[in-house]
Amino acid sequence: MAKNKDLCKKCTGLCCRYFALPIETPEDKEDYDDIRWYLCHEGITIFVEDDEWYMNIDNKCKYLSEKDYTCQIYDKRPRICKKYTTKDCDFIEGEYDYDLYFTSPEQMEEYIKIKFDNNNRKKRRRKTGKRAKGKSKKRTKRKKRKSR
Ligand code: SF4
Ligand code: SF4
Repeated sequence: MAKNKDLCKKCTGLCCRYFALPIETPEDKEDYDDIRWYLCHEGITIFVEDDEWYMNIDNKCKYLSEKDYTCQIYDKRPRICKKYTTKDCDFIEGEYDYDLYFTSPEQMEEYIKIKFDNNNRKKRRRKTGKRAKGKSKKRTKRKKRKSR
Protein backbone atom coordinates (compact mmCIF):
# COMPACT_ATOMS: atom_id res chain seq x y z
CA MET A 1 0.00 0.00 0.00
CA ALA A 2 1.26 3.44 -0.95
CA LYS A 3 -1.02 5.90 0.78
CA ASN A 4 0.27 8.91 -1.16
CA LYS A 5 -0.59 7.46 -4.51
CA ASP A 6 -3.83 8.72 -6.00
CA LEU A 7 -4.97 5.22 -6.80
CA CYS A 8 -4.58 4.09 -3.19
CA LYS A 9 -6.85 6.90 -2.02
CA LYS A 10 -9.67 5.31 -3.99
CA CYS A 11 -8.95 1.83 -2.67
CA THR A 12 -9.88 0.10 0.57
CA GLY A 13 -6.41 -1.40 0.96
CA LEU A 14 -6.97 -4.55 -1.05
CA CYS A 15 -3.29 -5.48 -0.99
CA CYS A 16 -3.24 -5.31 2.82
CA ARG A 17 -5.90 -7.97 3.28
CA TYR A 18 -3.93 -11.10 2.42
CA PHE A 19 -0.44 -12.42 1.99
CA ALA A 20 0.96 -15.30 -0.04
CA LEU A 21 3.65 -17.73 1.03
CA PRO A 22 5.60 -20.10 -1.18
CA ILE A 23 5.03 -23.78 -0.49
CA GLU A 24 6.97 -26.80 -1.62
CA THR A 25 6.08 -28.09 -5.03
CA PRO A 26 3.93 -31.18 -4.48
CA GLU A 27 5.40 -34.34 -5.93
CA ASP A 28 3.27 -37.26 -4.90
CA LYS A 29 -0.32 -37.95 -4.00
CA GLU A 30 0.37 -37.42 -0.31
CA ASP A 31 1.79 -33.94 -0.98
CA TYR A 32 -1.33 -33.03 -2.92
CA ASP A 33 -3.47 -34.36 -0.12
CA ASP A 34 -1.59 -32.11 2.31
CA ILE A 35 -2.55 -29.18 0.10
CA ARG A 36 -6.14 -30.39 0.20
CA TRP A 37 -5.84 -30.11 3.97
CA TYR A 38 -4.64 -26.49 3.68
CA LEU A 39 -7.72 -25.81 1.59
CA CYS A 40 -9.98 -27.15 4.36
CA HIS A 41 -9.19 -23.95 6.28
CA GLU A 42 -11.03 -20.64 6.00
CA GLY A 43 -9.36 -17.98 3.90
CA ILE A 44 -6.87 -20.29 2.21
CA THR A 45 -6.44 -20.57 -1.53
CA ILE A 46 -3.58 -22.08 -3.52
CA PHE A 47 -2.18 -20.75 -6.74
CA VAL A 48 0.63 -21.70 -9.08
CA GLU A 49 2.48 -19.01 -10.96
CA ASP A 50 5.50 -19.69 -13.16
CA ASP A 51 5.71 -23.22 -11.72
CA GLU A 52 5.93 -21.86 -8.17
CA TRP A 53 3.27 -22.96 -5.68
CA TYR A 54 1.86 -20.44 -3.20
CA MET A 55 -0.59 -20.49 -0.35
CA ASN A 56 -2.70 -17.34 -0.23
CA ILE A 57 -3.95 -16.39 3.21
CA ASP A 58 -6.81 -13.92 3.40
CA ASN A 59 -6.06 -12.13 6.63
CA LYS A 60 -6.13 -8.37 7.06
CA CYS A 61 -3.01 -6.64 8.28
CA LYS A 62 -3.55 -5.26 11.76
CA TYR A 63 -2.09 -1.90 10.69
CA LEU A 64 -4.63 -1.22 7.97
CA SER A 65 -7.06 1.39 9.24
CA GLU A 66 -10.69 0.56 8.54
CA LYS A 67 -11.54 4.26 8.96
CA ASP A 68 -9.57 5.68 6.06
CA TYR A 69 -7.82 2.55 4.72
CA THR A 70 -4.35 3.95 5.30
CA CYS A 71 -1.35 2.18 6.74
CA GLN A 72 -0.86 3.07 10.39
CA ILE A 73 2.87 2.36 10.24
CA TYR A 74 3.50 3.76 6.78
CA ASP A 75 7.02 5.03 7.47
CA LYS A 76 7.99 1.76 9.13
CA ARG A 77 6.04 -0.59 6.88
CA PRO A 78 7.84 -3.84 6.03
CA ARG A 79 10.02 -4.26 2.98
CA ILE A 80 7.43 -6.33 1.09
CA CYS A 81 4.95 -3.46 1.42
CA LYS A 82 7.55 -0.92 0.31
CA LYS A 83 8.33 -2.93 -2.78
CA TYR A 84 4.69 -3.36 -3.78
CA THR A 85 3.55 -0.72 -6.23
CA THR A 86 0.30 0.27 -7.86
CA LYS A 87 1.56 -1.15 -11.13
CA ASP A 88 -0.69 -4.16 -11.80
CA CYS A 89 -1.82 -4.16 -8.16
CA ASP A 90 -5.04 -5.65 -6.83
CA PHE A 91 -7.03 -2.50 -7.58
CA ILE A 92 -6.24 -2.62 -11.29
CA GLU A 93 -8.84 -4.34 -13.37
CA GLY A 94 -7.70 -7.55 -14.97
CA GLU A 95 -7.34 -11.20 -14.27
CA TYR A 96 -4.71 -13.07 -12.36
CA ASP A 97 -2.74 -15.16 -14.75
CA TYR A 98 -2.39 -18.23 -12.57
CA ASP A 99 -1.33 -21.52 -14.07
CA LEU A 100 -3.48 -23.29 -11.46
CA TYR A 101 -5.84 -21.93 -8.83
CA PHE A 102 -7.57 -23.93 -6.09
CA THR A 103 -10.20 -22.47 -3.81
CA SER A 104 -11.67 -25.57 -2.17
CA PRO A 105 -10.65 -29.05 -0.98
CA GLU A 106 -13.18 -30.50 -3.44
CA GLN A 107 -11.30 -28.94 -6.35
CA MET A 108 -8.07 -30.48 -5.14
CA GLU A 109 -9.77 -33.85 -4.62
CA GLU A 110 -10.92 -33.75 -8.22
CA TYR A 111 -7.44 -32.71 -9.37
CA ILE A 112 -5.87 -35.62 -7.47
CA LYS A 113 -8.32 -38.03 -9.08
CA ILE A 114 -7.48 -36.78 -12.55
CA LYS A 115 -3.76 -36.58 -11.95
CA PHE A 116 -3.26 -39.87 -10.14
CA ASP A 117 -6.28 -42.13 -10.06
CA ASN A 118 -7.41 -41.77 -13.67
CA ASN A 119 -3.90 -42.01 -15.02
CA ASN A 120 -2.26 -44.18 -12.44
CA ARG A 121 -0.63 -46.37 -15.05
CA LYS A 122 1.11 -43.44 -16.58
CA LYS A 123 3.90 -42.43 -14.29
CA ARG A 124 3.77 -38.77 -15.05
CA ARG A 125 5.44 -37.54 -11.93
CA ARG A 126 8.29 -35.23 -12.61
CA LYS A 127 11.52 -36.12 -10.90
CA THR A 128 12.23 -32.69 -9.58
CA GLY A 129 13.80 -31.99 -6.26
CA LYS A 130 12.01 -30.04 -3.57
CA ARG A 131 12.10 -26.39 -4.33
CA ALA A 132 14.29 -24.17 -2.25
CA LYS A 133 12.53 -21.92 0.19
CA GLY A 134 11.14 -18.92 -1.64
CA LYS A 135 10.04 -15.50 -0.61
CA SER A 136 6.68 -14.28 0.53
CA LYS A 137 4.89 -12.12 -1.93
CA LYS A 138 1.88 -10.09 -2.70
CA ARG A 139 0.03 -11.08 -5.80
CA THR A 140 0.29 -9.03 -8.94
CA LYS A 141 -2.07 -9.08 -11.82
CA ARG A 142 -0.69 -9.80 -15.19
CA LYS A 143 -2.22 -9.44 -18.57
CA LYS A 144 -4.00 -12.47 -19.85
CA ARG A 145 -1.73 -14.59 -21.99
CA LYS A 146 -3.85 -14.17 -25.07
CA SER A 147 -3.54 -10.40 -24.90
CA ARG A 148 0.23 -10.44 -24.76
S1 SF4 B 1 -4.31 -2.54 -3.94
FE1 SF4 B 1 -3.21 -1.03 -5.17
S2 SF4 B 1 -4.44 0.82 -5.02
FE2 SF4 B 1 -5.08 -0.53 -3.36
S3 SF4 B 1 -3.84 0.11 -1.60
FE3 SF4 B 1 -2.77 -1.58 -2.62
S4 SF4 B 1 -1.33 -0.57 -4.03
FE4 SF4 B 1 -2.86 0.96 -3.44
S1 SF4 C 1 2.07 -2.77 7.11
FE1 SF4 C 1 0.86 -1.18 6.15
S2 SF4 C 1 1.28 -1.36 3.96
FE2 SF4 C 1 1.94 -3.24 4.93
S3 SF4 C 1 0.20 -4.66 4.78
FE3 SF4 C 1 0.05 -3.60 6.74
S4 SF4 C 1 -1.27 -1.84 6.37
FE4 SF4 C 1 -0.54 -2.58 4.39
